[in-house]
Amino acid sequence: MKQFSIKTTTLTPVMLSGGPPAHNLIESLDFIPGNSIRGLMAERYLQVIKDSSPSDENFKKLFLSERTRFGFATINGALPIPASARTCKYEGGFTKEESHGVVDWIISSPNENRLCPKCSGPLDYFEGQWHPTKAKKAVVKRRLILRTAIDACRNSASAGRLYSNKVIEEGQSFFSMIEVEDADAANILENLIAKPFTAAIGTGRSRGQGWVEVRKAACPESALNWGEAKKRYNKFKALDVNSLVVTFLSDAIFSDDYLRDLSAPSIYHLKSLGINPNEWVSEPHSGFASVRTVFGFDGCPLFLPRIPRLAIKAGSVFAFKPKNDSASVSVPSDTGLGWTGENNREGYGLAVLWHPFHLAPEDGKWI
Ligand SMILES: [Zn+2]
Repeated sequence: MKQFSIKTTTLTPVMLSGGPPAHNLIESLDFIPGNSIRGLMAERYLQVIKDSSPSDENFKKLFLSERTRFGFATINGALPIPASARTCKYEGGFTKEESHGVVDWIISSPNENRLCPKCSGPLDYFEGQWHPTKAKKAVVKRRLILRTAIDACRNSASAGRLYSNKVIEEGQSFFSMIEVEDADAANILENLIAKPFTAAIGTGRSRGQGWVEVRKAACPESALNWGEAKKRYNKFKALDVNSLVVTFLSDAIFSDDYLRDLSAPSIYHLKSLGINPNEWVSEPHSGFASVRTVFGFDGCPLFLPRIPRLAIKAGSVFAFKPKNDSASVSVPSDTGLGWTGENNREGYGLAVLWHPFHLAPEDGKWI
């Protein structure tokens, strides 16, 4: 399997709508979903390769199979802050930002005195994205653009039709990973990104929105050292946390046997991470999670809106208890980082077992 790191820099304001298709107040997502990256690469393929078409074998391998995964692009390669993180209500933020620091609740017992470690004030949610190597919160600059509809008869602003768009500002770089399992397809993708190129993503393109520059570039957070899952599991165990802790690094989609969307995975959905589902209780015993509805639109040849799906938001954390407390469990021998759930080709379902953040939220080195 080959991995490529892609840098997408916004050249104009970009609107990646996360809400229902029609609304007069639209806020852009603060990341670029994998399906936008997949779409712009598919367009690049059809533009660059002579006499190519979506029915080519290589096109199918790259863009239509589950064997190529286009990850979500985040600002300077930032990661989602786990939903179990809390910070001081009055001076919130990491210690390196001269704030009162961040604590994690997945390993603390509910009976513990849950107050700010510095000022003993109350704690609050701590959401968003962060840069592990700097131990600082990541910020995506967005601004509000207002526009009115034009009245066709009067050629002036149409009364009562004002649209507010909160867009991603220009001049910001987002990094994502593309994983290609097929060797031939990987070579083709490598050629497509050999030179930087411009593309358009999101909505409002007829008004000049959505232009980005795409190039191959190493992710600033690629020095991240996850280490072996086994080592992290032992550290959790040393703190008396004998649970399987799974943290989602991108949004994830799960459904049950009747195809109903789920707001939490069962242990059987996590089999792909290298665990043995029979050793753990099937439902999580605790979770810090939120969900969002994913809307979308399929281009050629369907030209139809997608059925809205419920996704577990990036940063959600779930813990599963072992069936037998005293028996030893099998822990994957690799990093414990992998894909779960549905729609992996659009970057959904990237998860890690025993995320080191829960042990030391302030220490980005994780060694
Ligand atoms: Zn405080």
